[in-house]
Amino acid sequence: MIGRGLIGAAAARHLARGGQDVVLIGPDEPRQMADHRGVFGSHYDEGRITRSLDPAPFWSRVSRASIARYAGIEAESGIAFYTERGVLMAGPTGSPAMARIGEVAARDGVECARLDDTGLAACFPDFHLPPGTEAWHEPRRAGHISPRRLVAAQTRAAERAGARVIAARVLAIDERADGVTIRHEGGETEAARVLVAAGAYTGALTGGAVPLSVMARTVAFFEVSETQAARLTALPPLIYLHAHGDGPYLLPPIRYPDGRWYLKLGGDSVDVPLSSPAEINDWFRSGGNPTVARELDAQMRAFMPGLRIEATHHAACVTSFTPEDRARIAPISERVAVATAGCGRGAKCSDELGRLGAEVILGHALPDWATAG
Ligand SMILES: Cc1cc2nc3c(=O)[nH]c(=O)nc-3n(C[C@H](O)[C@H](O)[C@H](O)COP(=O)(O)OP(=O)(O)OC[C@H]3O[C@@H](n4cnc5c(N)ncnc54)[C@H](O)[C@@H]3O)c2cc1C
Repeated sequence: MIGRGLIGAAAARHLARGGQDVVLIGPDEPRQMADHRGVFGSHYDEGRITRSLDPAPFWSRVSRASIARYAGIEAESGIAFYTERGVLMAGPTGSPAMARIGEVAARDGVECARLDDTGLAACFPDFHLPPGTEAWHEPRRAGHISPRRLVAAQTRAAERAGARVIAARVLAIDERADGVTIRHEGGETEAARVLVAAGAYTGALTGGAVPLSVMARTVAFFEVSETQAARLTALPPLIYLHAHGDGPYLLPPIRYPDGRWYLKLGGDSVDVPLSSPAEINDWFRSGGNPTVARELDAQMRAFMPGLRIEATHHAACVTSFTPEDRARIAPISERVAVATAGCGRGAKCSDELGRLGAEVILGHALPDWATAG
């Protein structure tokens, strides 16, 4: 396994539990982003939205399968990462995006309730959304996860099932007829087969075998007092869908490793592609785009005008997409396969993406739903 992120650690757990001899290779989270000289991951955070509702059948299915296993992963590892708070998906009343959410809830049998302007104001008075907004509230099997703790949980569970971890960056993969040599910062490891789940670096590591579009993302953090956090922490994450579909998303107060409470807002208005590992590294080191952070700041103050913000900061991250807007989980040669491309929503469903990766590297065909639609 190459890549100790959300998908790679999940695949390692599935393979190790299945009795395979697994080595999981990937570096630790950098201590300092600004002067780090190695690779980066998209899981260095405490908040990712999780929800079953997703218009695309693939994403809906992998999300529901993963969410159903959260409790088991927490029990296996002893590491908690899931907070059930429900989710609110809001948008202009009668917009195609909102109508689609209603259809999807019915299609997938996802429990949720529609709220109009008045219902929204009554149930969630802390959110001030534009007049003429409606929302779908998914109360259960939704909320937020800590991606950092999910990686830790998957890794620990994989180790408990017999996997070995090498905390190193992989430099090259040399495939031969009789095996694969993985050259990494700690030396060389021989493997019969290799699954590459290196996030935004998967394309470069596999010699361009995977056509990934990697996008720069800026997220803004809003520190609040412990008292405010206690009052607001039970809020569901909010996704606001403009009529065309995309929009900002907001996470309620979450305690971070520095002991402070932050709300988070993301949703860049423009896609900025990063075309090489060097550009990805520079982007992470930059800490994000201050102009986008200012836009997010204004949006946050409009969404929650009653919020008393103690301090703000912003950070950089990346999302990876395939042309088909579906994760790429497939062999690329006799002994090497990939499991990558969360398409901006791969954290919540990473356990099922990892399971599918494990299937592929064992030579099993994926079901039709995972390769089409
Ligand atoms: C700002 C932001 C907000 C998001 N919000 C959500 C959300 O609300 N809900 C949701 O479900 N998803 C969300 N996502 C998406 C989610 O975080 C990603 O889909 C997910 O992290 C992808 O998992 P991955 O395993 O493919 O990649 P990563 O999590 O990035 O892991 C890749 C790993 O590969 C390692 N690696 C890279 N190169 C090498 C190498 N050469 N050798 C060894 N290891 C290597 C890295 O160190 C890293 O640990 C968000 C992403 C961003 C950026």
